[in-house]
Amino acid sequence: MKIDRIETFLLHAAPPGHGGWASRNWLFVKVYTDEGLTGLGEASGWPRVVETAIQDLTPLLIGEDPQHIERLWQKMMCAIMGHGMTGIVGAGAMTGIEMALWDIKGKALGVPVWSLFGGKMRDRVRIYAHAHTRERARTLVDEGYTAIKTGGIKNCVETVAAIRDEVGAEVDLMVDVHGPPWLTTRDAIALGQALEEFDLLFYEDPVAPENVEGIARVSAAVNLPIAAGERHATMWGVRELIEREIVDVIQPDTGRAGGLLQMKKMAAMAEAHYITMAPHDGSLGPVAEMAAVHLMATLPNFLILEHLADDVPQRYEVMTGQPVIADSHIIVPDTPGLGIDIVEEAIARYPSTGNVSMPEDTYDYSYVYARHARSQWLSGQQTPPPKYRPGHVF
Ligand SMILES: [Mg+2]
Repeated sequence: MKIDRIETFLLHAAPPGHGGWASRNWLFVKVYTDEGLTGLGEASGWPRVVETAIQDLTPLLIGEDPQHIERLWQKMMCAIMGHGMTGIVGAGAMTGIEMALWDIKGKALGVPVWSLFGGKMRDRVRIYAHAHTRERARTLVDEGYTAIKTGGIKNCVETVAAIRDEVGAEVDLMVDVHGPPWLTTRDAIALGQALEEFDLLFYEDPVAPENVEGIARVSAAVNLPIAAGERHATMWGVRELIEREIVDVIQPDTGRAGGLLQMKKMAAMAEAHYITMAPHDGSLGPVAEMAAVHLMATLPNFLILEHLADDVPQRYEVMTGQPVIADSHIIVPDTPGLGIDIVEEAIARYPSTGNVSMPEDTYDYSYVYARHARSQWLSGQQTPPPKYRPGHVF
């Protein structure tokens, strides 16, 4: 069997409008073989740019036997190495192709992808959903969810307190601060310490991902499990977080970590350090999620998987073999390969319309807001933030 064609499918993956998620795209990758078997993957990490990277890599793969996945991954890695640190763009491109190769191998052998990674540790994979209000948390718990994540620094402590009060002690809660550059390490420590009383499953991306020493300082000062890694690529990208045991939970993004085998290697590194894995899924589409389900089924140190509950309509239209969800879990499928396919007519209805977020006019105000929010965590006072005036220097 030989690879004879690779196609990409880029689509708009946000609600209509120009909000913060207006630039969310999904990029699906389909690898075709001369024997008629096809494989499906998904790549993130700036999808339109990743699409071009995949087109650049395609000539390296045409005519190759798709079963030699590690060798083909090394071939791609060597090909882009000269571009310097390729980061999540290069890793995203390799991820989409590599994922499709596992799908082909599974179909060729008649086994699910999880069977190729050591077999199942579990028949279902635990998931969590997102809530930013007490009411949304109640709805999710009533639907069966047993773990909920909230995020951002705006009224963070009050939001977590309200959700904990609403759902009780039995539901796992997580907080994601999204590692913004305007949040200092000291502020992240102050917020983390204010959250300690809520018994979180983890405190995620407390500072910017590039600030490894900052994450380490938060980890040393805050008595909560620390999670990070969604914006890191390849096992080398997460090595320091794991080796120094800075994090308790490593969170690779299944669409841009470098591939399923890279994630399995990361998981093994983490396992040796008593660290669990909880993959990022926030910007991803349904193909990468299903790939994560297959891989997480095999990991002894799997913790929980992010899931976009009640996502945009296209999530449920562009892929066959949708996940079966019950009691805060996705059932691990037994179909060969990933057990899914894309619906090209549905994808065509959602053309990509933008590729980067458009920061609001008050973007520089975020730094001031972070200082103000800190004063609220420390004082417990609910005071309005300072008024932003264009051009005003705080
Ligand atoms: Mg996150």
